[in-house]
Amino acid sequence: MGTRPGEGEVALADTPEKIRCDACPVMCYIAPGQTGACDRYANEAGRIVRTDPVVLLSQVLEAGGKVIPFAAGTWVDGLVPEDTGITGIGAGTTYPDYKPAPFILSSEVEGVDMVTVVTEAIFSYCGVKVKIDTDRHLGPEGATVRHQGEAVGHVTTAEYGSQMLSLGGVHHLTGGAKAEGRLTCAALLALCNGEAVELAIDGGCSVTVQAGEPPVVDGIPERRMRVGCGSATIGMFASQWQGLVDEVVVVDDHITGVVSEHQAGKVIGWEPSGIRIRGHRSTPGRYFRVSEPGLGWGGTRLTDPLEILDAWNPKKGARPGLRLLMVSTTGEQYGYYELDADLTPRQKPLPPELLPTVEMIDENCEPSLCTVLFMGGAGGSLRAGVTKNPVRLTRSVQSGETRLTSGGAECYVWPGGGITFMVDVTRLPKGAFGYVPTPALVAPLEFTLPRAAYLRFGGHEAAIRSLASILDEGGEYPTAARLDVKGSAG
Ligand code: SF4
Repeated sequence: MGTRPGEGEVALADTPEKIRCDACPVMCYIAPGQTGACDRYANEAGRIVRTDPVVLLSQVLEAGGKVIPFAAGTWVDGLVPEDTGITGIGAGTTYPDYKPAPFILSSEVEGVDMVTVVTEAIFSYCGVKVKIDTDRHLGPEGATVRHQGEAVGHVTTAEYGSQMLSLGGVHHLTGGAKAEGRLTCAALLALCNGEAVELAIDGGCSVTVQAGEPPVVDGIPERRMRVGCGSATIGMFASQWQGLVDEVVVVDDHITGVVSEHQAGKVIGWEPSGIRIRGHRSTPGRYFRVSEPGLGWGGTRLTDPLEILDAWNPKKGARPGLRLLMVSTTGEQYGYYELDADLTPRQKPLPPELLPTVEMIDENCEPSLCTVLFMGGAGGSLRAGVTKNPVRLTRSVQSGETRLTSGGAECYVWPGGGITFMVDVTRLPKGAFGYVPTPALVAPLEFTLPRAAYLRFGGHEAAIRSLASILDEGGEYPTAARLDVKGSAG
């Protein structure tokens, strides 16, 4: 992989030596020794070659990968393990989709004749869903997410302990200005190939996202995701605090919990403390909107948690010397206070017996990571490379008869029409994704199903080959082959 989307030039047919690549609608003319605009195809001594090796996967290899002879016409028995399968990585496309997929492999799995059809699919309809494990407010729901100034997606609904982004999609790729499409494609490609991408959210933060790595919010790496909301934290730890302290407030942007009022406190006999919280009381001991969202305590703007407390009520249990613990949902921030003679909380050092309870919150927080799921629609013309009757492939995938994988990784296929799938990009070998400057992403796909079903739904029978003949003959474009260990992404 070399140039990024937009960096490559589409060569013009101004010299006779240039030859045309027809593997995508861009149809580059490529000079000898050069690659096309996407870097995936090159002109090598007057013929178009695929620059990345086709990736084969086996479970029985011990470690690491090796490059093996491909299209050498010298098949040697035992060269590759018997369980070796072929992926769409490096396979080439079927564009313009009138021809069978580059490789259609026959194999036997537990006595059943199977077929695996592989291709590199070009996705104009695609994007990534990004889960960022953080409590911090990254930006308002619906806010535009930018990469190098261009709109590439938006903030979508937050999940439990995580903020979510939806990036890419056909409107950003092809519906806006050229720069928007180019930078959307560049951001998606980098994210899918496991690289770090800096994003800026309108009205919010900048965040660096890299699949499988902690997010960096406004330059600060996130360490832990929260143990739960404030209410859940009260539920989990109320009994451990009892007897050590008279009141606990778990500060959280979503639900701030107060142990003396919370049902978990009630059932274990926690005494009222006379505390009063500034915020919207949802149910006893559970408060919404104690502050604005931000980068402070528990995803609020708070740097001083006492701001959410109103005057204490002596008629409901407030008294001088009352002991108060305030803590965030990650345990990163905490403060211990005692009420003075005027019922004003005064900060004191955390008593040693309370420290393990705060550490327990921290211990229960999982490491904060970014998760990137590629999502694409494989329900278009690429299906013609699998079968002469494309809708039957869709039905077969939807029924579970055909298993869809991407670079050997398990996919989740959305119910309903089409073949809309998601895959965790960290489960594919690194560099498995490519692009074309239309702009669109290129992702590997493999459809695996019983041979009998394949023939029944109109599969390309004449194109089915054994692994031996695939390795012997190669594909449409000359390339190398790399044998990797299945499940060792990266
Ligand atoms: S962009 Fe790549 S795939 Fe498309 S024509 Fe050019 S070299 Fe071929």
